[in-house]
Formats: sequence, structure tokens, C-alpha cells
Amino acid sequence: GSLPAPADIQGLLAEAHERYREDRRGAVADYIPALAAADPDLFGLSLGGVDGAVHSVGDAAVEFSLQSISKAFLFALVDSELGHETVRRAVGVNNTGLPFDSVMAIELNAGRPMNAMVNAGAIATTGLVPGGTADERWEFIIGGLSSFAGRDLDVDAEVYRSETASNGRNISIAGLLRSYGTLAADPRETVDLYTRQCSVNVTAEDLAIMGATLARGGVNPRTGQRLVEPSVCRDTLAALAASGLYERSGDWLYEIGMPGKSGVSGGLVTISPGKGALGSFSPPLDPAGNSVRGQRAAHFLSSALGLNLFASR
Ligand code: GLN
Repeated sequence: GSLPAPADIQGLLAEAHERYREDRRGAVADYIPALAAADPDLFGLSLGGVDGAVHSVGDAAVEFSLQSISKAFLFALVDSELGHETVRRAVGVNNTGLPFDSVMAIELNAGRPMNAMVNAGAIATTGLVPGGTADERWEFIIGGLSSFAGRDLDVDAEVYRSETASNGRNISIAGLLRSYGTLAADPRETVDLYTRQCSVNVTAEDLAIMGATLARGGVNPRTGQRLVEPSVCRDTLAALAASGLYERSGDWLYEIGMPGKSGVSGGLVTISPGKGALGSFSPPLDPAGNSVRGQRAAHFLSSALGLNLFASR
């Protein structure tokens, strides 16, 4: 199957925006001070097809930091370098059943980070990034994320500064992994690289393109560039299906029926393999840290656009 006609997509995006814009549930993340200032009324939706067409409504061109959504694309980049088995062994692909910043999840699993979509696993994945120096490793990360978006992305300096100043928990997680031998790289440097990648600015439209690149088997529909092999996209989407919305990943899959990844600044990307991806931005979050309006819009559009992977028709 393919996506509906462009005019139908545009109309359904507008309908989703209209339906959920007044939903005031959820709360903007405030454990990172710079995120607490986000406008809770911002709401943007963008759908990117594997053919490169992009449809948007609302605040789809407003920039926000990637936060945990970076984890999905970092996983793809590292999986592409090191391969399926190495990443499984080093990081894992099972859900923790616990919040994204859980220390308990590490303790309960003999020091294994469990999956790349929570902080411990993303820090472990960042520790696997190739490069001889921190600068080279950063170039690998920012270059890779930019290739997924099809444009040069930059760090939000204020978010990076704010998150660096309030990063005690992630530094502790890296130290704990290091003590178990599940992080070989320097913990401080690894957390800094992780924090920088979380601070990279994107728009909902960028998320749609980044997701559509995974939906298309690794070719960016905006630039035509091949970034990763189809097998890497399969690995990434499987990891997202299991853990992309943290401990709520089962509920998400049950309701939306597609792999997705959320971040605490309010971004959400939902991928339909072979068809395209939905990018959304709306800062208020549910208790697990997933955008409230983003989830509702994905639910409506999954059904309206016929995207659910488990639907036979
Ligand atoms: N940078 C954030 C953190 O490490 C990312 C968390 C998230 O988006 N869930 O806490």
C-alpha cells in the first residue's frame, strides 16, 4: 500500500491539528531548566513520504531540541558502523519497563544498559561512536544527524548549557555503567557527547524527513543520499517498537501500531516502513515523558492514513 493522495493527507493533518490543539493535558518538562520555558501551546505536525513530499500544519517549522529522539538516529549510525550483533551484545534491545533515566534498570540487569532508547543505553551507544578524538566523535554524530535531516543541524547553545549544568543523573549513570564494564569510553566525555546530541535543534518537518529516511530503507528522500543499509533501518525500527516510548512502548504499539520515538522537549517521530513518517512537536508531556498531543495526533493519523503495521487492510 501507499499513502493517500496529497490533498487528503493535508486535510487529515489539518483535522488532527484542529482536534487536539485545545487539549491542555500534560506538563512541559522542567528538570532541564531551559526546557521549562517552552510555550505549551506550540503544536506542529508534518508528514514526510518516502517519495520526498512533505505536508505540514501548525508550528512545524519551529525549532526545538531533539532530546531522546537523537537516540534513534544515533542507534542507526552506530549499528551501521558496528553491526547487528555487536550492538545487541553491547547495548541490548529489550524494554526496561522503567523510566528513561532509571538507575534501577541498570542495577536489576547486572550493569547491562538494556536498550539504546533510554539514557543508559544511549550513553553506552555514544561510547561506541568511532573516532580518535572527542572532536572526531562529535563530527560523526552531528554529521550523521544532519544527513538524516538533509540539512546542517546545530546545537541549541542555551539548552546544552542548561542541561550540562543539571546533568548529575546522567553522569551517575555513565559512572555506574563504567563500574560494570559496560561503558569502555571515558564517562565524562561520553555524557558530554550525549548531552550535545540531545541539544541539537530540529523542526517537526526535519523529524518527518529523518523518519522517512528510515521508512525508505536508509535513503534520505530530501537529498537522495543513501545513509545506511535497509538492514540498519530494520534494526532501528525494531528497537523503537520495543522501547521508543520508554515504559509506555506497549501501550503505544497497541494504540498506534508503528515504531516511534519521543523526546522530553515534546518532539515525536512515528515511522511507517515503505510509506513515510509523521513528525510532531508539542511540549506538554505525559508522566512517562511523551508528548500528549503528539500521541493523540499519531493515533488519529495512524488510523486515518492507514499506517498501522498490524492492520490487514
Ligand atoms: N537529554 C535528556 C536527558 O538525558 C533526554 C531525555 C528524554 O528526552 N527523555 O535526560
